[in-house]
Amino acid sequence: MNIVIFGPPGAGKGTQSNFIVKKFKLHQLSTGELLRKEIKEQTNLGVQIKSIINSGNLVSDEIVSNLIEKYIADKIYKNRLIFDGYPRNLNQATNLDNLLIKYNQKIDMVLKLSVSLKTIKKRILERHSLEKRADDNEKIAIKRYETYEKNINPIIGFYKQTNLLKVVNGEASISEISDEISDLIEGKKGWL
Ligand code: AMP
Repeated sequence: MNIVIFGPPGAGKGTQSNFIVKKFKLHQLSTGELLRKEIKEQTNLGVQIKSIINSGNLVSDEIVSNLIEKYIADKIYKNRLIFDGYPRNLNQATNLDNLLIKYNQKIDMVLKLSVSLKTIKKRILERHSLEKRADDNEKIAIKRYETYEKNINPIIGFYKQTNLLKVVNGEASISEISDEISDLIEGKKGWL
């Protein structure tokens, strides 16, 4: 089973991805992490992309595509991938379909963790209520949330058409969300 996971910062995407990885023995492919690894190891690519990443812009579709193709092509990960941070735009979404077809695979499920801005704010306040920077943190979080929503809408529309999209209530507790995701994955027939 190949899964794509979406969720705004603060939705618990990392926690839930870790849970899925452990329970279903999948491999998490986070493009942000792959890119940061290139920078840390000072590879040619890492040197090339460092300033782009640090300025908060997206690197080119081609660079990210080349990075993920290595994993999609690898038999060890065949039908065992969770894509996190990819696709970021419609071009990447069609590219992902094409790459998977090339290696005889497909996306089986698209999970969207849905959380309101109100809840994200509440979580930040709970976390930072004793710190002076709570206001700043809230401002940054609102900006990130808005950027996420703006970018994600067309991609979600794309996956709605394919019937692969499952919207998970990210307002629930961590274990309730995990249970819902488990049920969805286990309910998918013939996934192994
Ligand atoms: P993330 O950890 O997913 O927030 O990604 C960190 C940074 O890596 C982003 O701000 C982008 O600069 C870059 N990045 C990650 N995924 C992608 C992607 N799919 N396409 C382009 N750039 C990406």
